[in-house]
Amino acid sequence: MSATTVNQSATQSTNPLAYARLQLRDAADLLGFDEGMFTMLSRPRREVTVSVPLRRDNGDVEVFVGHRVQHNFSRGPAKGGLRYSPHVDIDEVRALAMWMTWKCALIDVPYGGAKGGVRIDPKAYSQGELERVTRRYTSEILPLIGPERDIPAPDIGTDERTMAWIMDTVSVNRGHSTPGVVTGKPLSLGGSLGRAGATSRGIVHIALEAMRSRGISPEHASAAVQGFGKVGAGTAAFLAELGIRVVAVSDEYGAIYNAGGLDVTALARHAKESGSVAGFAMAESIPGESILELEADLLVPAAVEGVLNGRNAGRVRAKVIVEGANGPTTPEADSVLADNDVLIVPDILANAGGVVVSYFEWVQANQAYWWSEAEVEARLKHRMMAAWSAVEECARHRSISLRRAATVLAVDTVAQAHLQRGLYP
Ligand code: NAD
Repeated sequence: MSATTVNQSATQSTNPLAYARLQLRDAADLLGFDEGMFTMLSRPRREVTVSVPLRRDNGDVEVFVGHRVQHNFSRGPAKGGLRYSPHVDIDEVRALAMWMTWKCALIDVPYGGAKGGVRIDPKAYSQGELERVTRRYTSEILPLIGPERDIPAPDIGTDERTMAWIMDTVSVNRGHSTPGVVTGKPLSLGGSLGRAGATSRGIVHIALEAMRSRGISPEHASAAVQGFGKVGAGTAAFLAELGIRVVAVSDEYGAIYNAGGLDVTALARHAKESGSVAGFAMAESIPGESILELEADLLVPAAVEGVLNGRNAGRVRAKVIVEGANGPTTPEADSVLADNDVLIVPDILANAGGVVVSYFEWVQANQAYWWSEAEVEARLKHRMMAAWSAVEECARHRSISLRRAATVLAVDTVAQAHLQRGLYP
């Protein structure tokens, strides 16, 4: 795709790439970078769009579109999730790849950013069909990925099973086992203890700090969580373990509310059996979008992009928002929420726990030496706290929001790597 097409589509305000670029522009201005540096950081280094044909179980053939975007590799191999969703589009993948670059720099793991996606509704296909889609997509992007090139991980609609199929496809093609090509693998294939809950654990470490910074004591706090997938369900469970009242959760099928606090363990069982949080007996059903506007100390959007926007930001009553999802808040909502004194912890800090433990998994896989769960969790907490302190300090020092501070720190780190390496040739 040409740069012109990228720019044209990025002008739409609902486009995540447009707001990823606005954030970068702001950071580049704060750092005094020239136009050349901004342009270099605003464009993906490499991207590929592939056709993914599938022979369905009934013999029919369907063809899906898949993307892999590598935004940057100045600090190491590209790293980022693989998303299966009917809403996947190239600009969304570009934005998510850029945010991965900033996240890896901010949390100080030696990677650049990448993201992949296949435009498919995984719920409409059998396990066998999803395995064939995954193996074919992997074959199409095979020359681009590898432990020292680009390392996919789970994201919306994919899981450890998907990672196992990618790892096997790459290994068969290379003629040797290549566990370092993906993270978020099953433990039996070299996955890391603590990886499955790492994003959610990181969100909760940060949420506690953010609430404390606003004088909210966790024992008396209430929370609402949008999305009940890998990130949202784990976050709700860890918050509840700490005694925080999780009053509402939602997924794409509905939202539920219990002012006294949901029984998150029973809810997880219900969601596993029925496929949704909707219909949980010990709660009342509420309209899906209203979860973002509930009276709660903490709001964790952990579903998709753009859910907090100009239409609803003025009605948000949470005091602290910790972004579990990538890009849940549009720039318009950001400024309304700031005016209303809502503290927002940005995605590139809040949900970085996943990539931290992905890094630990890659290190373990490359050394074939495994760490204990306690070791993984202690190191995760240490990294999250260090990043929180750095961002908070930068925000205070420059009198800017946590999002602007996190982006400035990350963009500066990547730019320094660019400058040190120099421009080839
Ligand atoms: P997932 O597929 O496991 O879960 C997504 C959840 O969101 C599901 O419960 C789905 O029903 C729900 N959902 C979808 N659309 C919704 C809507 N409009 N309203 C309410 N709920 C909706 O995905 P995940 O891995 O949990 O990822 C969630 C978010 O977290 C994404 O933005 C992803 O990029 C981000 N993230 C994930 C990880 C990770 O380790 N999985 C790490 C960092 C960031």
